Amino acid sequence: MIYYPEKYAIKDERMKPFIDEKETWGFINNVKADKQRVREVIQASLDKKRLSLEETAVLINATDPELIEEIKEGARTLKEKVYGERIVLFAPLYVGDLCTNNCQYCGFRSENKGMKRITLNEQQLIEETTALIDQGHKRLILVYGEHPKYSAEFIAETVNIVYGVKHDNGEIRRVNINAAPFDIPGFRTIKDSGIGTFQIFQETYHEPTYAKVHLGGVKRNYEWRLTSLDRAQEAGIDDVGIGALFGLYDWRYEVLSLVRHVNHFEAVYNVGPHTISFPRIQNAMSLNIDKEHLVKDDEFVRLVSILRLAVPYTGMILTAREPRHIRDQVLRFGVSQIDGGTNLELGGYSKGKKDSQDLTMGQFQINDNRSLNEIMDELIKTGYIPSFCTACYRLGRTGEHFMEFSVPGFIKRFCSPNALLTLAEYLEDYAPADTKEKGYQLIDQKIEELSAHQKVEKLREKMELVKQGRRDLYF
Ligand code: SAM
Ligand code: SF4
Repeated sequence: MIYYPEKYAIKDERMKPFIDEKETWGFINNVKADKQRVREVIQASLDKKRLSLEETAVLINATDPELIEEIKEGARTLKEKVYGERIVLFAPLYVGDLCTNNCQYCGFRSENKGMKRITLNEQQLIEETTALIDQGHKRLILVYGEHPKYSAEFIAETVNIVYGVKHDNGEIRRVNINAAPFDIPGFRTIKDSGIGTFQIFQETYHEPTYAKVHLGGVKRNYEWRLTSLDRAQEAGIDDVGIGALFGLYDWRYEVLSLVRHVNHFEAVYNVGPHTISFPRIQNAMSLNIDKEHLVKDDEFVRLVSILRLAVPYTGMILTAREPRHIRDQVLRFGVSQIDGGTNLELGGYSKGKKDSQDLTMGQFQINDNRSLNEIMDELIKTGYIPSFCTACYRLGRTGEHFMEFSVPGFIKRFCSPNALLTLAEYLEDYAPADTKEKGYQLIDQKIEELSAHQKVEKLREKMELVKQGRRDLYF
């Protein structure tokens, strides 16, 4: 069985494309998925090996319902064994929807004249951030259209504004970015503002489809986008998030390409991406795409499970694009981060209403309108530990997913205690009484469980301090 090194048709080089369409289809069309082979591949993943393209293709090609169940079970076991019950929470904050591109799936596209174009000014950004802090958030992802106005300097400035907002006991401790690709100096400027992850989704790795759906602006250039996170790495941003927009092309091709992107990073930068996102296309104003590749629910659950097994040490993000029943299901198969209380309307958080679903106000429609507290409550009830932890990033422990995965005891020593401390902060400052009660029951139970493996005195001490009003304590 081959794991490393892998020889692919295109040699991996810094800032050079790495996707070969024929090769990708070659794997999908030729790799056999008999029972024994599927089981071997699941076991390789449970042994903490990132899967090769050939192995990922084995999972993709397994269509027997019994084997699909085994893949899902494998993903569930891996998630439980490796990551435990923590789920990290965040919220998207849309800063501006001006856009010079013409992506056929997006409400912000330049040709859509019905969209209300808004760029938050400093005051509005402060109000939005304050509203999110008051929900209990500690981690945001700032989102921007692609427009000359949203230069690297502009983005860095908005990051500084967000970090500068303090309200009561709250503050934002980690700002991630989803914005257009930059050149290396641009990425450097944004890095210097203290961001966490820079996310850029390739949308589709299939070049002919990419050309069909990107009809204007800089984003037409497939290679500029494909190599964008290499430039981020060159600029010193080693914390990057990749993704594909599922529904534009064959999901099997996109899954293999995401894995190819991961091993490209490993080959040239020695570190995989921090996170993978797998948004499915949602309804949007002036949506204009072929429906033939839309991904059905069962395929979606399958593809998330396959990704979990293929890249065991990469964080996986699931957003409120998906309805609650899908979110609940997919959480079990390996998702590590979700958003809560999401509102895509520009300026929508400070207006204090749920996402309006008015398509002239947002990029696309979301399907999970629960408030952050509703989600927290639900997670606590089901035994997950909701976490707002930002410790690794602030202690310079980058690559934490890798550490979680590869350093024995890392989760029990750092992640679980930190998750519990941030949960306690939330319970003290933002939760209604019944959530608070359930939350502390969960905390007591989890500390008890941890005490079987390690000393928990320090954790108990810190927990007491949180109850007395101290904040931002972590290991
Ligand atoms: N303008 C930047 C860009 O295109 O990279 C920022 C990203 S955009 C605001 C965020 C992501 O939303 C896109 O990369 C795309 O994958 C996703 N998206 C766009 N339209 C969507 C739709 N109709 N349904 C679901 N996701 C969509
Ligand atoms: Fe603009 Fe991004 Fe929407 Fe494309 S996906 S139209 S680049 S905001």
